[in-house]
Amino acid sequence: MTLRTRLTAAFLAVVLGPVLLGAGFVAATVSAVSNSRASERLDLAVAGVRTAMNSSCQRLRTAAETAAVLGGNLDPAAAQRVVNRQLAGAVELVDTTGVDVYTAGKLPAKPWADCAESAGAATFVAVAAHVELVDGDGHPLGYAYAVEPVDPALVRRLATAAGAAVTVLHGDSGWSTERESDQSQVSRVAEALPVGAVGETDSGRRVRRIDRGPGQPLPLAVSVSYEQPRGLYAVLVAVVALTGLLSIVAAWWLARSTARPLTELSHAVDRLAGGDLGVRVPVRTGDEVGRLGATFNRMAREMQGYLQALTTSRDQLRGHLGLLGDTLSSTHDVNRILEVILESALSATGARAGVLLLVDPASGVLVGQCAEGLNGRGPGGALLQVQDLRVRVGEGLLGSVAAGGKARRGLTDRDGPRLAVNEPRCRTYVAVPFAAAGPGAATGPTGGLSAAAETPPSFESPAPACGVLALYDRHGFDEFDDADMVTLRTFAGQAAVALDNVRVHQEAQRLSLTDPLTGLSNYRYLKDSLRREVERASRFSHQLTVLALDLDHFKEVNDTYGHPAGDAVLAEFARRVRVEIREVDLAFRQGGEEFVVLLPETDAAGGAVVAERLGAAIRRTPVLVRSARSAQAVRIPVTVSIGIAVFPDHGANGAAVLEAADDALYQAKSDGRDTYRVAWARGEGVQGVASAGTGPETADVAVGGDAVAVTSSGAPDVPQASRQSHDG
Ligand code: GH3
Ligand code: MG
Ligand code: MG
Repeated sequence: MTLRTRLTAAFLAVVLGPVLLGAGFVAATVSAVSNSRASERLDLAVAGVRTAMNSSCQRLRTAAETAAVLGGNLDPAAAQRVVNRQLAGAVELVDTTGVDVYTAGKLPAKPWADCAESAGAATFVAVAAHVELVDGDGHPLGYAYAVEPVDPALVRRLATAAGAAVTVLHGDSGWSTERESDQSQVSRVAEALPVGAVGETDSGRRVRRIDRGPGQPLPLAVSVSYEQPRGLYAVLVAVVALTGLLSIVAAWWLARSTARPLTELSHAVDRLAGGDLGVRVPVRTGDEVGRLGATFNRMAREMQGYLQALTTSRDQLRGHLGLLGDTLSSTHDVNRILEVILESALSATGARAGVLLLVDPASGVLVGQCAEGLNGRGPGGALLQVQDLRVRVGEGLLGSVAAGGKARRGLTDRDGPRLAVNEPRCRTYVAVPFAAAGPGAATGPTGGLSAAAETPPSFESPAPACGVLALYDRHGFDEFDDADMVTLRTFAGQAAVALDNVRVHQEAQRLSLTDPLTGLSNYRYLKDSLRREVERASRFSHQLTVLALDLDHFKEVNDTYGHPAGDAVLAEFARRVRVEIREVDLAFRQGGEEFVVLLPETDAAGGAVVAERLGAAIRRTPVLVRSARSAQAVRIPVTVSIGIAVFPDHGANGAAVLEAADDALYQAKSDGRDTYRVAWARGEGVQGVASAGTGPETADVAVGGDAVAVTSSGAPDVPQASRQSHDG
């Protein structure tokens, strides 16, 4: 059963029920009232007829008495006078035997209905009253009759007195004031009635019979019209029918106007549930149902908008996450990674602005790495640049987050804290620290991060934060919520992991190019560096000097003091080399106890100065080593032989120059060790080697083929200016 049917039925029941009941009640009441009024009128009519008849009898009696008194001696003149005075229609005096003595007026034919008798002849034409005539002694003389004919005039008089139609039963057909059509019916009904009962004719007249009795000589039927309120019933039926019709129309309209929007609404809700967010219902009225429809439309519209925004932001986020993934996997450019992380965090939370800062452990200052939307967020609404973002740890919002290691969110005005001078101004904020998870010396912004990927970066830990990721003023003026904080933590974790990965990568890179024993760059890096330096030297027309170094009789060190002692000597040797060379110079361990030093922008003379100084630094102080073989520390004297070659003088490329240096080294070894030799210039067909002064005295030796020239021992053939450049 639909709502519409129920509403229609309910409305009809509510409206038609009372209308029908009311109509029935009115009809019943009207019927009862008219019934009782008819009965009342009939009663009054009966009483009126009786009274009128009685008074007629009284009058006839008076007339008879008058005639009797006046005509005590049967005086005919007395009777005549009574008639003349119209006291009766006729007077008859009879003697005791009933013989007519005298008559006055026109005497109707007998029998008469006598007022004093309650029974008599069935038919009569007159009404009479009589008194006894007596003489002076009281002897009866006869009777005096006063007679009145029963005629239409009498009946009319009675009817007038009764206010109803009167009919004389068993009488002449003219003795009735009924309409001719009713007359016989009234008579028939009246004759069939029991005494005192009320009958009704087919034509709707109420009838009562008045039987004969003393003072009532005539059998009469009195009738009144009983007005059935038929018109009223018709009106009632019409009213009920009309009301019913109107009710049906009203119910139909009501049910339609109420149920239709609800039906539409339920269909719309169905479609909405099916995912059609574009559905709307027509709103025709401003009533509750109309408001419900309007509210539904608003809800659907807002859901649609919300879904669109959600879809857009999901797509954006997907894009950003893809970009983040690509960036993380494809680059070790820290700044680019941090930028993408910040962009992704902004996109995920809908913030208007954001910054990412890292702690500089040396100064204890948070330094801005990247930022978005800082326009107008500087002091006094000025533009704030990334490079301006410098906040002391412990100061302002960012500093307090870094210091406390606790994420914060809120409204600046409500929750504080006081912003530092160089912090972005904001209304709402969420800021998350990210911290070093593992041990490690902080050597820079990327220094103190956990090394292992499986060790997650810690938050809100006692470990000092290495950075802070903060977002400001979400679109729509909403405060950031806990979900935003969780999101931001994820991104901050990404930042920490990314920074850590970069550090690990850099460390691995460094390790792959570094000799672990001496900390010098290894042979692999030597090749790259040599190529790079030769390239640079040739581009700027500079000279590049290459020193090849080899420890003397190092095998004996191993043999005498053990391999670990040899290692210690190698490490100490490398340390001394590092100390002796300039910052721009590069030292390498080529392998074993062989080393190479590159001296950019240096000629052979400069190289000789360095070789001299290195030789002296090694020779001067024996290396103190705690040997495994003896309980005490031992002093191991060490010397080094050095070959010097110069680009472009001794070789057209790095390999050639290195080879020339090796040859010069070989020459130095040959010349007794603990000295240096310089290779000869290429143009001269042979490479020359100059000896150091401190080495054993050596004679000039010519080596065939790859001829090596050996200078005389003593002071190196080095220009003073070059020496000074190295000393400086
Ligand atoms: P020369 O004066 O001719 O150079 O004599 P030398 O003994 O130094 O030369 P040689 O090439 O014969 O011996 C080099 C030795 O260096 C051999 C090896 O035991 C030692 N050596 C090479 N690498 C290492 C190292 O990493 N640690 C130690 N302890 N010894 C090393
Ligand atoms: Mg060697
Ligand atoms: Mg050696």
